[in-house]
Amino acid sequence: MPAPQASRIVAIYPGSFDPITNGHLDLISRGSKLADRLIVAVLQNRRKESLFTVEERVAMLTDSVREYDNVEVGTFRGLLVDYVSKRGANFILRGIRAISDYEYELQIAHMNRRLSPGVETVFLMAGEAYSFISSQLVKEVASLGGNVSGLVPPLVEERLKRRVSETH
Ligand code: ADP
Repeated sequence: MPAPQASRIVAIYPGSFDPITNGHLDLISRGSKLADRLIVAVLQNRRKESLFTVEERVAMLTDSVREYDNVEVGTFRGLLVDYVSKRGANFILRGIRAISDYEYELQIAHMNRRLSPGVETVFLMAGEAYSFISSQLVKEVASLGGNVSGLVPPLVEERLKRRVSETH
């Protein structure tokens, strides 16, 4: 009888990634060691105002994760659990920076488990050096001419500067 195969861990890391920050990247790096395959999925949300288009966000993500062989980038719209099942995934990866994240994440995780009982949400604590970084804050600082170097990958820093100069 063949030895039972260990089940493969395929995780989806969903988010807006508008734009990707070094905090997201830290989570991706750590998540890629836990999962056999990690799919970073950009939510296509027409209701949410974004600075970068989905295509731009995907391009920045793809460039930022190219060193990880088991990480890929995708997009989805509609229910996350539907995308999880479409991709044959079994875990959702999310990050927690502070209590404020916890309350929101808890709600979403419970709802997702109700919608799809077989799918577990796994949380990683933000790295100490990254717990204050959010895409929103990075965008605000960049739009006011502040230095965001070290908070986002170099390509994102460059794109942010360009976008800010286009809109001023
Ligand atoms: P969303 O719009 O879904 O909150 P984000 O792109 O802001 O999308 O975040 C996606 C996920 O990454 C969320 O779980 C969020 O808590 C997590 N995250 C965001 N910034 C950081 C960070 N600096 N460190 C760790 N996790 C983070």
